[in-house]
Amino acid sequence: MDVEQLFPQLAAHRKETVRLHPRVGRPTSRDSSVGGPLLWPVEEPWPVCPEHEGSPMVPVVQIHRGCVPDVVPFPADCDLLQVLWCPRKHSGHRWVLPLLKWRSADAVGRVLEIPPSPSDPVANYVPRPCVVHPDRVTEYPYWDLPDALWDELEQPFLDLAEDTGWDYQGHLSTAPGTKLVGYPGWCQDPDWPECAGCGRRMEHLLTVESTEADAVSRHAWTPVEERDTPSEGPGLILGDLGGVYFFECLTCPERPFTYRYDCS
Ligand SMILES: [Zn+2]
Ligand SMILES: [Zn+2]
Repeated sequence: MDVEQLFPQLAAHRKETVRLHPRVGRPTSRDSSVGGPLLWPVEEPWPVCPEHEGSPMVPVVQIHRGCVPDVVPFPADCDLLQVLWCPRKHSGHRWVLPLLKWRSADAVGRVLEIPPSPSDPVANYVPRPCVVHPDRVTEYPYWDLPDALWDELEQPFLDLAEDTGWDYQGHLSTAPGTKLVGYPGWCQDPDWPECAGCGRRMEHLLTVESTEADAVSRHAWTPVEERDTPSEGPGLILGDLGGVYFFECLTCPERPFTYRYDCS
């Protein structure tokens, strides 16, 4: 279905996104992964939670620049993105407490083989080790659709669903699952953060979701190789099947990051 041919108004809102398709496997610290071992220098302290003092974080995502050429804005001297979080419950209804790290893979000498692990994590906050299968897709906004366009397109979206069975929200707009850049995988109204340093709206970097697709989005977004046999994924349960969304300021030189959560 050619979304822009049907709704040319959406062309200006097109974004390129990389879905990661995490599938349970045995990634090494050299591989891109979800929940796999990180390429972490032995001499560098392993991250601990600021709220649960001394409690180690766990690996969530590691991505090499080569997996996502041109799509993800890596800092000039870095080619590895690492995301960790503390897999325990936090104050203020925060599920996990994340950390984001950019580094150069070549600058890592001896690798920390066995990082410390937290003593009492919430089981579904620790992703199972998965290999990833990066897949570039095109997205159009759903929750982020401007109000004026929403007014204009609501009826055409309903007509399309009636005529063809294709649902704009579930099938044609934003990709479900864990992904880099593009639109956040909001389950509710957007909550874009502003940079504490410069006040600009931050950019979406990464969405980590509880599931790779739901009953509706599965019809359009399931990869061919998973159509008959669904793969096991990281097994996260974040809130009521929600997501964690990471944002960065690309204007401030130190690239501050922050995060948001939501669920259905
Ligand atoms: Zn914590
Ligand atoms: Zn800023």
